[in-house]
Amino acid sequence: MTDAATPATLDPYAASDEVLSAALGDEPRYRLVQLRAWLARGVDDPEEMSDLPAGLRRRLADVLAPPPELVAQTSADGGLTRKVLLRMQPSGEEIESVLMLYPAGGERERARATVCISTQAGCAMGCPFCATGQAGLRGQLTVGEIVRQVTVMQRLLASGEIAVEGAPDHVTNVVFMGMGEPLANVAGTLGAVRWLTDAERGFGLSARSITVSTIGLVPAMRQLTALGLPVRLAVSLHAPDDALRDDLVPANRSHPLAEVLAAAAEHAEATGRRVTFEYVLIDGINDQPEHAERLAALLAGRGAAHLNLIPMNPTPGVSWTAPPVAAQRAFCRRLTDAGLPATIRANRGTDIDAACGQLYATYQLRSGRILPAAIGAAERLDGTRR
Ligand code: SF4
Repeated sequence: MTDAATPATLDPYAASDEVLSAALGDEPRYRLVQLRAWLARGVDDPEEMSDLPAGLRRRLADVLAPPPELVAQTSADGGLTRKVLLRMQPSGEEIESVLMLYPAGGERERARATVCISTQAGCAMGCPFCATGQAGLRGQLTVGEIVRQVTVMQRLLASGEIAVEGAPDHVTNVVFMGMGEPLANVAGTLGAVRWLTDAERGFGLSARSITVSTIGLVPAMRQLTALGLPVRLAVSLHAPDDALRDDLVPANRSHPLAEVLAAAAEHAEATGRRVTFEYVLIDGINDQPEHAERLAALLAGRGAAHLNLIPMNPTPGVSWTAPPVAAQRAFCRRLTDAGLPATIRANRGTDIDAACGQLYATYQLRSGRILPAAIGAAERLDGTRR
């Protein structure tokens, strides 16, 4: 038993059987099966594990990291989009996750309930168009803090607290596109993917229903590929050449486009899943006809599953904006005319559903500072603005 003043920190979603068995002490072996079954159903508060004896529930509550507190819930798009604010325990870190419901009907044959989850508190990557990127990194989320964003939504759906006609009553898809760069927290992200796809001891979600977004951290992309799971990779490009990308995505200086695209092709080859690409459209910065032409040339013959064009969200402290709608459409048309499967992504809610971190465009810059890298890039590009 831990000291009352010591917060319980054992992450039940990352713990091996040996570690959980140690936490269970002298209990019979089937207790481990019971505990795993509760976790798989999204129940991680020992007090709710009704088939465990009261004494064991109390002991577990002393060692397992407590479930997050659901601080707030908001709804948009006629209830089809739900955003929840979770306060993680014991860190106290507040994280937003979004549930997007897509009822069956129209062109969509299969109803979906997609959760967009965060992997880091803040982000260290410093992309100058992104609110999260400018605030810097506050910390990595643990495996449990990542998967609990899914299990909280699962419980809201399963309990009927969130219910929309024609939409699933369970989570069908997970996208790692919330706050942070998922592959900059490779241990957390890979651990969460493993747990979510583990049919025996985890959530049992099909790997094909999971998308991991990245700006192209090549070594970690290869680690994801090495998992051997057909997870979809979404590569955020945001620029069609290294010169511009060095400024818009500073990580490009370490992992230039050719290397990123080669690692993406390896993933597609190994998993049989074609890669999707993301491109944030910024007025006067990366939205000119020559950018579209270079982007089309860059992706020609790469078998892209899709190219999502994302009108930039307003970002505190940044003067850049999305191009006018006519310019967005013209950019998209140039790509489709070149044979690329491009669309302009329809925003869900007012400030959600975009590339990594852009989801949180209204995210408050709590530290009150903007990363020097982001300021420098914005100043340089404003100097060359069309
Ligand atoms: S766009 Fe993504 S990788 Fe870049 S700073 Fe924002 S959250 Fe980080």
